[in-house]
Amino acid sequence: MPESWMSDCLFCKIAAKEIPAKIVFEDAQAVVFRDINPQAPTHVLVAPRKHIACLADSQDGDAALLGHLQRVAAKVAGQLELGSFRLTLNNGRGAGQTVDHIHYHLLGGRPMQWPPG
Ligand code: 5GP
Ligand code: ZN
Repeated sequence: MPESWMSDCLFCKIAAKEIPAKIVFEDAQAVVFRDINPQAPTHVLVAPRKHIACLADSQDGDAALLGHLQRVAAKVAGQLELGSFRLTLNNGRGAGQTVDHIHYHLLGGRPMQWPPG
């Protein structure tokens, strides 16, 4: 378990495989799994194993980890054969964040609208 693991956090539990999820990629720092309520033909969540509640709570020391998550997203997008895709992060309830463990949404497989609303 990472030092920062939170026993009452859904995505910490998914990363630790205490709760099942359709994992499409994982490494020492990150886990990527299918969203339970997909908003596009492909919708996966890119999360760190480390518990960080939201982007606003991240520290300067997390910069490499945050960059790694974006590289993982790019690689998984390639693996899932997404030509175009959207990478989204919701910070705070007003922006739609419902799970307080930082994660990027990787969405693809359909045209995307802008602004996202
Ligand atoms: P947020 O709203 O915090 O940006 O994103 C949370 C996402 O987690 C939502 O898209 C939601 O559908 C997804 N989600 C919530 N509970 C579960 C779960 O138990 N398993 C999986 N795979 N996804 C979940
Ligand atoms: Zn967590």
